[in-house]
Amino acid sequence: MGRPTGFLEFGRRAAAARPPLERIRDWSDAHPRLPDAVLGEQAARCMDCGVPYCHTGAQISGMAAGCPLNNLVPEWNDLVYRGQWREAAIRLHRTDNFPEFTGRVCPAPCEGSCTVGLNGDPVAIRTIEQEIADRAWDSGWIVPAPPLARTGFTAAVVGSGPAGLAAADQLNRAGHLVTVFERAGRVGGLLMYGIPAMKLDKGVVARRVRLMEAEGVRFEVGVTVGVDLPAEELLAGFDAVVLATGATVARDLPAPGRDLGGIHLAMSFLRGNTRRLLDGGAAAEAPIDAAGNDVVVIGGGDTGTDCVGTAIRQGARSVRQLEILARPPDARAPDNPWPEWPKVHRLDYGQEEARALWGADPRRYETTTRRFVGRNEHVTAVEVASVEWVAGPEGRAEAREVPGTVETVPADLVLLALGFTGPEPALPRAFGCELDGRGCVRAGADRMTSVPGVFAAGDCVRGQSLVVWAIREGRTAARGVDRFLMRGETVLPV
Ligand SMILES: Cc1cc2nc3c(=O)[nH]c(=O)nc-3n(C[C@H](O)[C@H](O)[C@H](O)COP(=O)(O)OP(=O)(O)OC[C@H]3O[C@@H](n4cnc5c(N)ncnc54)[C@H](O)[C@@H]3O)c2cc1C
Ligand code: SF4
Repeated sequence: MGRPTGFLEFGRRAAAARPPLERIRDWSDAHPRLPDAVLGEQAARCMDCGVPYCHTGAQISGMAAGCPLNNLVPEWNDLVYRGQWREAAIRLHRTDNFPEFTGRVCPAPCEGSCTVGLNGDPVAIRTIEQEIADRAWDSGWIVPAPPLARTGFTAAVVGSGPAGLAAADQLNRAGHLVTVFERAGRVGGLLMYGIPAMKLDKGVVARRVRLMEAEGVRFEVGVTVGVDLPAEELLAGFDAVVLATGATVARDLPAPGRDLGGIHLAMSFLRGNTRRLLDGGAAAEAPIDAAGNDVVVIGGGDTGTDCVGTAIRQGARSVRQLEILARPPDARAPDNPWPEWPKVHRLDYGQEEARALWGADPRRYETTTRRFVGRNEHVTAVEVASVEWVAGPEGRAEAREVPGTVETVPADLVLLALGFTGPEPALPRAFGCELDGRGCVRAGADRMTSVPGVFAAGDCVRGQSLVVWAIREGRTAARGVDRFLMRGETVLPV
């Protein structure tokens, strides 16, 4: 720890986004970077607290407290304070294969369990992480480092999201020859086609993929395993297989009128928009276009926020966001103490942009959708009602409609952002893998499935989760594969 009193001397400063009305004019994730002196002060706020929770990744009350990757936050904060950026980058990459992704999109559970946050603002950990990662790339410190020797073993990874990429990266480092199969036309999974460009520039993803290719990882895109390439062929052709196919089955809303035109799953909207930006540029027409429309986003989570931000950039006339849950409190509730992830009300980027445009947060809480109203087979409105949360017969909270609160909200475009129910079951079944009660692939602590030699990682095991968890999962599965191939030995870290 460089400066024992740093947390008393300096207030928190995280990297600020560009002003909302400026950034909605483009699709860039750029933001002004903090000067070195300020970054040093921010790192100095790390207080050498003795028992830091920021890097534990412990599960408390069902949620991660601290970094799931066990990123060595206090250590790289100290190095940044001392201006030793290159050493900080080396330390960060020991635990995180892709800090340029997590530095941009991680919700930072580390900050929720930072000790300075007990009675002040937490250390700006994610800002510092992104700066270390970007500086490492800008300075040319990240160069291809292929393994010195090959083991002669081969591994197939199915799916190229963060879990598949992390597994491939680790297995390649251990000297195994890795081929990643991806059914989409580009590598990256939700890093490429889910998270919008204004949160994660697609060039940042492609740059990492190029590095992995230069290090010896092979990528085969446009290949749907189980369709173009049967499971048996993969089992016969490789010494181990990792399934990292994500949790891609979206939750639908089977309300009356659902079959009207203009009602789409969030991922169709987001994927289509990213594809057209990559293939045709901002001037090309989006397959689902919000321009000039009254847009209603159903679902108040992160995917919903991405729909809000995307619809705004496409030129929506208005955007409303409906959420069935109650508005979270502004500060931690008594049953949500530190170091748990703080379940508090946040103004994310999309809502901030909507407020700047139209003067109000677009979210409407404790609201249920009763039906979709249409004309000429196209949606024109959503009929909604307020709900209150009451204890059900088994003590679980249930939403009850409040009488007399029915109203219609105008809508030409409705986007369903209600989360995902789990992985597509066909592929794990084709490999003979057991599924658990939630429909996810059942995998042990080393991520081996019920089929020896077949491993699974990421959202297809955990259900819908986060990039940081997917990387963790991929690393865990790679260790399991390495141990499986090397007869109980492994060179890979936990
Ligand atoms: C809109 C959206 C925004 C998000 N924003 C964030 C965020 O800001 N921060 C964050 O931490 N998390 C975010 N998440 C969650 C995060 O993206 C996921 O948890 C993470 O990507 C899961 O990684 P994964 O590798 O398990 O799966 P995925 O990223 O889903 O990748 C799975 C890949 O497998 C491929 N695949 C599937 N079946 C086959 C097959 N049969 N053959 C070949 N390939 C196949 C798919 O095409 C896909 O590319 C977001 C999710 C969504 C939907
Ligand atoms: S990966 Fe996420 S949780 Fe881990 S240190 Fe970075 S921002 Fe924090």
